Amino acid sequence: MSARTYHVRTFGCQMNVHDSERLSGLLDEAGYARSTDGGDADVVVLNTCAVRENADNKLYGNLGHLASVKAKHPGMQIAVGGCLAQKDRAEIVRRAPWVDVVFGTHNIGSLPVLLERARVEQEAQVEIAEALEVFPSSLPSRRESSYSAWVAISVGCNNTCTFCIVPALRGREKDRRPGDVLAEVEALVAEGVIEVTLLGQNVNAYGVEFGDRYAFGKLLRSVGSVDGLERVRFTSPHPRDFTDDVIAAMAETPAVAPQLHMPLQSGSDQVLKAMRRSYRQKRYLDIVERVRDAMPHAAITTDIIVGFPGETDEDFEQTLHVVREARFASAFTFQYSKRPGTPAAEMTGQVPPDVVKERYQRLAALVDQVAWDESRALVGSTVEVLAADGEGRKDEQTRRLSGRARDNRLVHFAVPDDGPLPRPGDMVTVEVTKAAPHHLVADSAATGGTYLLRRTRAGDAYERANAAATAAPGSGVLLGMPSLGAPPPDPATAAPGCTTH
Ligand code: SF4
Repeated sequence: MSARTYHVRTFGCQMNVHDSERLSGLLDEAGYARSTDGGDADVVVLNTCAVRENADNKLYGNLGHLASVKAKHPGMQIAVGGCLAQKDRAEIVRRAPWVDVVFGTHNIGSLPVLLERARVEQEAQVEIAEALEVFPSSLPSRRESSYSAWVAISVGCNNTCTFCIVPALRGREKDRRPGDVLAEVEALVAEGVIEVTLLGQNVNAYGVEFGDRYAFGKLLRSVGSVDGLERVRFTSPHPRDFTDDVIAAMAETPAVAPQLHMPLQSGSDQVLKAMRRSYRQKRYLDIVERVRDAMPHAAITTDIIVGFPGETDEDFEQTLHVVREARFASAFTFQYSKRPGTPAAEMTGQVPPDVVKERYQRLAALVDQVAWDESRALVGSTVEVLAADGEGRKDEQTRRLSGRARDNRLVHFAVPDDGPLPRPGDMVTVEVTKAAPHHLVADSAATGGTYLLRRTRAGDAYERANAAATAAPGSGVLLGMPSLGAPPPDPATAAPGCTTH
């Protein structure tokens, strides 16, 4: 009898992407096989996100569609996990009785058991834990990339930002032991990974649980010294907890990438106060300045919310001021929308949608202009690009591949007409020939200029996984040959989805 197949659909932030890799790993280990075409899977898992106002409408819309799929597919099971499951719990099976399993953010490890129990007992299983049972990173994983990996160092958050649902749904911060983090990184590197992104809701508060406020800087240094690891990134830090020892660790550890994603949310002190974010504009800009002093070429990116309740024109101008001063390489910008269950949703002074929209457009235009200026300054410089696993639009005509520079900028680069193509995970050194707001073009190879290909262990790992996947479809880490065009979002850059920091 062939194995039952599964398909995991992920909504929301990087933490969910990371958890979904664990859900897939758990199902692999329990004997399920990944469905090659998600549409015909025997088990569909929705890993949900609760941060958008209409998130539940979307969930019930998706579930409505799945009801008709299930009606034609005897034995099919539907499981709902993630933040919305943690929030709505049994309400989900009340509104969608064809759902088989509901599990929360703290007990993703229970999924295979709950599926089995639902199948045997022919009854929906709802199990939500109030506190984390097993750190997700210690669960089996099916990684989506052979060269780049997420490593969760903490989950939950002890802050109380008024727009954020994370503390309610993910609980108080729980830190993983440094030795466990390091062991995971070493194991990943042994498998061929050359880039890791340390992940947490508030990464630089890391250590709060075991009482070491310098723990994050120490962790950066120790992870950065793992032999064979070329790039270390992290997301997201909170300006409140940003200490100089973290800046020193970044600057002094060659493997730590010259890149910082530090959520601003608002440039106005008054709005920051209403958001209950304990830093002010000056502190934010001071950190940016100290980072630039230590790492002049660091690319700094951010998240910004426009139209928070009570935001005036003057408050908004302060946000524009910070964008100009901080010279962000890019920014995820969000129009404020009420998130049920958050204090901000109850606040007076909600800004009319047309005002929010107009401010949002002005902000987006300024962000693009600043980002473009910053990219233009890189024309003529040499960048090392980690070739990505391309899907997307093929660009046979320009023979361009894509990847990320050390500072995490997206680079589309030409490859020579003859000679081998870089495999995903290999490094190429090229010269930037053109800038755009959201990417760089490096066509030096097309004119006989700089083009240096360095084959890496990650490229070897990709090739091995690809060969295995081709020999036994559904078994490997990755499928398909490297293709020309834009890469899929990589772990280090996936949009936050929830602007949670
Ligand atoms: S926005 Fe970030 S720092 Fe604030 S409560 Fe949410 S997770 Fe914590």
